[in-house]
Amino acid sequence: MAKRGSSIIKGIQASEVVELLNKAYADEWLAYYQYFIEAKVIKGIMKDAIFAELTQHANDELRHADMLANRIIQLGGTPLLHPQEWFTQSSCGYKEPQSFDVVAILKDSIQGEQCAISVYSSLADTFKDKDIIYYGQALMISQILADEVEHEEDLQDLHDDITEFVTQIKSTMG
Ligand code: FE
Ligand code: FE
Ligand code: MG
Repeated sequence: MAKRGSSIIKGIQASEVVELLNKAYADEWLAYYQYFIEAKVIKGIMKDAIFAELTQHANDELRHADMLANRIIQLGGTPLLHPQEWFTQSSCGYKEPQSFDVVAILKDSIQGEQCAISVYSSLADTFKDKDIIYYGQALMISQILADEVEHEEDLQDLHDDITEFVTQIKSTMG
């Protein structure tokens, strides 16, 4: 980043910001791949509706990774260069699907979103009042946080629809 631009980051080192954004960047790539692969392997009822949601979320996570990479570069940093670092830097990790069943897949992803929400809430707190160009960065973090909150809601709604549907079928057939 230009000298003038870096000079108005208050109370936090640009390098520290880069480090934190890189951790979030690692999370986004793993979240992207998790949704990508879940959408491929998912099986069971309402599969098509869930496929559409998972695919949309995969695209959102990739867009988040793009936003973070751009910001890291703007701050004079380098986005993680090797995928191995996604695992060492990630806060939320990667949950390999153990079952391809819709409910199991939704549960895994809901857990991932809950972790993402914690990460971005704490980033929002950390950066608060510390960086004034950073108005743009605060906006970016809160936009991503809003997406993650929406992701969790979408998945929870699908999960509830499915479990309710299954209960209804069971009572109809019972
Ligand atoms: Fe994300
Ligand atoms: Fe998300
Ligand atoms: Mg959605």
